[in-house]
Amino acid sequence: MLVNATNMLLKARDGHYGVGQFNINNLEWTKSILLTAQEMNSPVILGVSEGAGKYMAGFKVVAAMVRAMDESLGITVPVALHLDHGTYEGAKACIEAGFTSIMFDGSHYPIDENVAKTTELVAMAHDHGLSIEAEVGSIGGEEDGVVGAGEVADPAECAKITALGIDFLAAGIGNIHGKYPANWKGLDFEALDKIHQATGNIPLVLHGGTGIPDEMVHKAITLGVSKINVNTECQLSFADATRKYIEAGKDLQGKGYDPRKLLAPGAEAIKATVREKIELFGSANKA
Ligand SMILES: [Zn+2]
Repeated sequence: MLVNATNMLLKARDGHYGVGQFNINNLEWTKSILLTAQEMNSPVILGVSEGAGKYMAGFKVVAAMVRAMDESLGITVPVALHLDHGTYEGAKACIEAGFTSIMFDGSHYPIDENVAKTTELVAMAHDHGLSIEAEVGSIGGEEDGVVGAGEVADPAECAKITALGIDFLAAGIGNIHGKYPANWKGLDFEALDKIHQATGNIPLVLHGGTGIPDEMVHKAITLGVSKINVNTECQLSFADATRKYIEAGKDLQGKGYDPRKLLAPGAEAIKATVREKIELFGSANKA
């Protein structure tokens, strides 16, 4: 069932668990995530980066595929189709295309410009029934060519953006996209606590969920994090399972080269990762 992400995240905030955002890249990714969320009776957010949208031939294709698949697989758990790290133009395109949620990442703009653009997109998103996420303080690491240094968000700026009427807020607290370096200092819980206090209990979003230790994830949830983004971890488990299949020479046996066989171990590996994360975040049976 396609819905926006507002209610599922308010429920998560009040119930002290997190809802996973799992990024999709193609049909197999989408199917694995939807089936696992349904099997675990968990709400789920499908994240689409601008790069992944282009890869899938455009946001309209993505929206059509997700809607049709949700229906034909008989998915009854709440599913949000969310633009991840959207540009101003990308956010508008996704509202048009039939997404149910957008993120506007104006974190690289001066705060006044971030405020102006976010204000406009909040009105547009809400007019069309979508939820909207905004970001303050860039997330470290690289995502689709956007490199962030990993700032810690300023609580006053977080309060300012929250007051614009956004539905959930991504705030940098030392989290990083991609793999965490060996010398990573961990999440800044003092900053998270201040942001949580300053933003009137708005659901907070933790980006870069791959490789954050389980106990840090749990602590973040107690401090207001209601949405946790997972992207790299599914990519790593897909690649690992696919490599094993090929290294074992299975693509050379019988019709092992059939893409439905070749991609099956990777699709199963994504399911296992999503299952593990849903357990960790506590959203099983919360649909
Ligand atoms: Zn992110």
